[in-house]
Order: sequence, then structure tokens, then C-alpha cells
Amino acid sequence: MPIYEYACQDCGREFELLVRSDTVPECPQCHSAQLKKQLSVFATAGAQAHAMPAAAGPCGSCGHPDGPGSCALH
Ligand SMILES: [Zn+2]
Repeated sequence: MPIYEYACQDCGREFELLVRSDTVPECPQCHSAQLKKQLSVFATAGAQAHAMPAAAGPCGSCGHPDGPGSCALH
């Protein structure tokens, strides 16, 4: 589950929040839903991961060209 940083637009408090798909984020201080999502370390790392070529194909552990499970070890 991703952790996002938010800044409350009403009281200015900044906080981190673990966001589930069914969670509506709100400020822990004033309970406002007027939040601005900040760029966090986690979000930046995720964006970079998506920008990289897919790891599918060669076995992730040994590089066997037929994919995971094809080699003797994995
Ligand atoms: Zn607030």
C-alpha cells in the first residue's frame, strides 16, 4: 500500500497517510478533505520503476531466456 504525503489546504498541516483504495484521506488535525498530495520519496521511486523496461522475459533470478521456472534452479 502506498504512503502519500499530504498538505492540508485548510490548516496547513503536512502529514503522511497510508492510502487504501477505499480510503478518503482527511486531515488528522482539522478533518478537512481539502488536501494537496505532495510528491513523496515513495511516489518518485514508483514513477521511476514504471519508466524502466518491464522485467518480464528472462528468468528474474538467473537470466534464463525462457523465463521464470524454465531453468533448473528457478
Ligand atoms: Zn487540516
